[in-house]
Amino acid sequence: MYRVTPVFEGNNLVATGVLMEGLSVEDSGQGLCFNVFCYNSQPGVGIDYATGDNWLDTDSDIVLDTYVEEESQVVDDRSIPGAEDDVSQTYILNKNTKKIHYPWCSSVEDMAEHNKQEFTGNIDEVIEQGYSPCKRCNPT
Ligand SMILES: [Zn+2]
Repeated sequence: MYRVTPVFEGNNLVATGVLMEGLSVEDSGQGLCFNVFCYNSQPGVGIDYATGDNWLDTDSDIVLDTYVEEESQVVDDRSIPGAEDDVSQTYILNKNTKKIHYPWCSSVEDMAEHNKQEFTGNIDEVIEQGYSPCKRCNPT
């Protein structure tokens, strides 16, 4: 279950922030359970929450520069040819049912310990060995 509630103060036109609540129902919140308030603000940007006006906040120029730099670095990483192939992922294999799961899949908890096998690498390698992706967690 997931819920996001915008919080407005007084007659403000812009939300002060959002209350984010999440709970993984199938395991009573063991895997995921959070309740956080996320402020509606951004480094280097001033916001008048009453009117919706916003402006570049020159007092925090340094913060804004850092922010932009980090963002462009992420784009650079993605543009490296072949970078996608280097991504290896950890999976949990069920030796009995020949299914591939993500480690967080709820099926993994129900699995007998002697049927579990951890695998880190490209999922295609285990598919070649006769394994197929779990329909619940849908690993790729
Ligand atoms: Zn699964």
